Amino acid sequence: MAKKAAFETKSKRVHVLEDGLFITDAGNILGDTGGRKMRIRGAMHAVLIESLGEDDGELVLLDAGFGESVPETLEGRYELRREKTLLEAIEETGNSPEDVTHVVLSHLDPDHVGWAINPPSFPHATIYAQRGALEEAKNMPEEDGRNLAVKSLEKGVEEGWVELVDGDGEVAKGIYVEVRAGHSEGHQIVWIDGSEALFTADLAPSKIFLDPDIIAGVDTDPEAARRNRIEVLSEAEKRNAPVILYHEPKDCLVKIRKSGKNFEATPLEN
Ligand SMILES: [Zn+2]
Repeated sequence: MAKKAAFETKSKRVHVLEDGLFITDAGNILGDTGGRKMRIRGAMHAVLIESLGEDDGELVLLDAGFGESVPETLEGRYELRREKTLLEAIEETGNSPEDVTHVVLSHLDPDHVGWAINPPSFPHATIYAQRGALEEAKNMPEEDGRNLAVKSLEKGVEEGWVELVDGDGEVAKGIYVEVRAGHSEGHQIVWIDGSEALFTADLAPSKIFLDPDIIAGVDTDPEAARRNRIEVLSEAEKRNAPVILYHEPKDCLVKIRKSGKNFEATPLEN
């Protein structure tokens, strides 16, 4: 990331962090590429949210990168490039992983749950995942990455550090999750400080996905993904909310505007 991205809403300071980049065949993201060989890069912009003013002690992390290394079952398919880890990026904000109180997982793909479980890196945090996402992951084939999170999360539920969420709700002060499925069952987006900013996760992970007709081949329900993406991006425009694009290597913090059947992104100055 060229520069540090941080901004303030009414009552939060929002740090857009990075857990490095992955490089993979486009087919792993987009599905069928018509036999063409293409490599694409994706960043992993986890988001750290501090409370301004009154110190309520809450420090919220949205998604958790790839973790220490690419899981064995994905080796060879994903190459990881990073100068520093998400944990180091958290330290640079003046916080430490021990201070994190809430980790919200948009869904259970390995590039989103990393440091929450591989290894568990936030000893004082409760991890919030949708029950629907866990149920889906249990039924995924062994080689699918989502499956890898199941054991850890079930252990966390037993031990009390994972909380399963059923649908929409406020998981920390001003931090609202909303289920917008399609990429996975129980995929959740996050509205920050009421509705002042939006984390879209893999519903609209990068700028190419602002065209609603671009559907990731890995989406479990493409039609739901398309419909939800149009609805959520329209809402972000209506609310004039900055949008954080998790996988966008550059300009991951944008404002959204509808343009014909597509949406356009303008980088947010900060
Ligand atoms: Zn992803």
